Amino acid sequence: MPKVLDGAAIAAAIKQEVAEEVKLLAAKGIRPGLAAVLVGHDPASEIYVRNKVQTCADLGLFSELITPPGTVTTEEMFDLVAGLNDRDDTDGILIQLPLPAQVDAKALLDAVSPAKDVDGFHPVNAGRLQAGRSALAPCTPAGIIEILKRSGIPIAGQHAVVVGRSDTVGKPAALLLLHQNATVTICHSKTRDLPAITRQADILVAAIGRPGFITAEMVKPGATIIDVGINRITSRDEFERFFAGNAKREATFAKRGSTIVGDVHPKAFELAGAYTPVPGGVGLLTIAMLMANTVRAAKMRRGL
Ligand code: NDP
Repeated sequence: MPKVLDGAAIAAAIKQEVAEEVKLLAAKGIRPGLAAVLVGHDPASEIYVRNKVQTCADLGLFSELITPPGTVTTEEMFDLVAGLNDRDDTDGILIQLPLPAQVDAKALLDAVSPAKDVDGFHPVNAGRLQAGRSALAPCTPAGIIEILKRSGIPIAGQHAVVVGRSDTVGKPAALLLLHQNATVTICHSKTRDLPAITRQADILVAAIGRPGFITAEMVKPGATIIDVGINRITSRDEFERFFAGNAKREATFAKRGSTIVGDVHPKAFELAGAYTPVPGGVGLLTIAMLMANTVRAAKMRRGL
């Protein structure tokens, strides 16, 4: 039976460690603070940001939710970010994506002070990560490394295949694996004969954004599969393709009219040595790592 890598337990352990560090900092009169900027009323973003703010409260961090209207301009956002860059009670600035089309998202993310860039998206942090220097690393890729390490999965010398090369997930995940001495192959939509490459993976990271894309034929038996994908499926046909005969999923689907599937077909997990489930895997690490990054930013900014 493959081992299920329990994202909930690992995220809880990291949050516990963060809460303990927050207590130690409180004794020095420091309270790490996160400013979360949520533009407009995207329902998924509202849930994500609410969870982030709630987790700050649970762990003893200061947090502030700033909610500009959906009509906000790039200039107004620049002013907002400049104010947050200057504020002493703000250690981390999180701008929830996606932003409305009229806002220049790239320019805005570049305007966040690298020292407060707890999402790790600023080119300065991306460059530092690439160079193997101390950096605020993107939360989801950092979470992948935590899952592997805390589950006792060896990384050094392993062939890690990362499918997906986004700046936020695939690319930084590949770099972090490289820094852990994995032999890394990055694949993308132009990769030729993808299954031949994924079948070589000791560690297979799927960050594609396509439901159940990685099938059993693409997996080496015994591999560790890290499924980053979060895809909501609503059609009966798709449901049958992934979850036919799964009573628990059937109940969720009947109740909500949808369910979540990763980028890996559930049948492919049966071949794995270990895997992260969806939901309940990588997704839970993202907020935990955001909290860890905020505390780290608070310490770095004070030279601690
Ligand atoms: P992007 O859309 O930015 O990137 C997708 C990547 O997959 C691209 O590099 C693309 O290649 C590659 N790709 C697409 N189709 C294929 C194909 N047929 N064969 C090989 N490669 C392909 O997505 P993200 O990186 O932002 O997210 C990936 C997934 O992870 C999504 O499901 C997202 O919801 C999820 N996610 C989960 C998070 C979490 O907390 N668990 C956080 C962030 C994302 P190319 O570059 O050539 O176009």
